[in-house]
Amino acid sequence: MTTEKLKIGLDVDGVLADVIHTWIGYNNKIRKPISKEEISEWDFWKHHKIDKYDFYKELSLCWQRWTKIPSTEENLSKSTSILSNIGEVDIVTAREESTHIYVKSWLLSQKITYKNYVGVLEGLEKTNLDYDVFIDDSPLNAKSMLDAGKSVILYNQPWNLSFNDPRAKRIYQLKDAISIIKTLMQET
Ligand SMILES: [Mg+2]
Repeated sequence: MTTEKLKIGLDVDGVLADVIHTWIGYNNKIRKPISKEEISEWDFWKHHKIDKYDFYKELSLCWQRWTKIPSTEENLSKSTSILSNIGEVDIVTAREESTHIYVKSWLLSQKITYKNYVGVLEGLEKTNLDYDVFIDDSPLNAKSMLDAGKSVILYNQPWNLSFNDPRAKRIYQLKDAISIIKTLMQET
């Protein structure tokens, strides 16, 4: 067993921030209404005749009004604080660069504990970063990370339910990541 802390890459959208909730509110005013449970695939927009670029543009728009974005669950502040005690937690988020400032304000308002803030443009770029374990909700990112030998803790969401790779550890609350990371630390 090593005393060296594991490097943890913690995602924002879909793990800490329930931005899809805010997006659904926006979508349902301008298009056919969708419920969160209907977003059962990562590329759900294809089946709802929504342009991918419109979708991502609208997510950025939601972030401009970051005070309206709820957290995925209560107690994120406490869970990230405990995680930061046992590991080295960085925020690792893929997004349009103009939205970083809103995300940082949101993280501060939610009292999220982290060391560094790392932004990338595409989710798959995360795989190449120097982290031992990622906490993410994207099935695409998860597959890429696992194939590269990284550990993945998958935050449960309707759009990753069909991702059944046994190498990923599915969690339903962020606090469930604590015991998984403690186990990983004993394995390394
Ligand atoms: Mg995400």
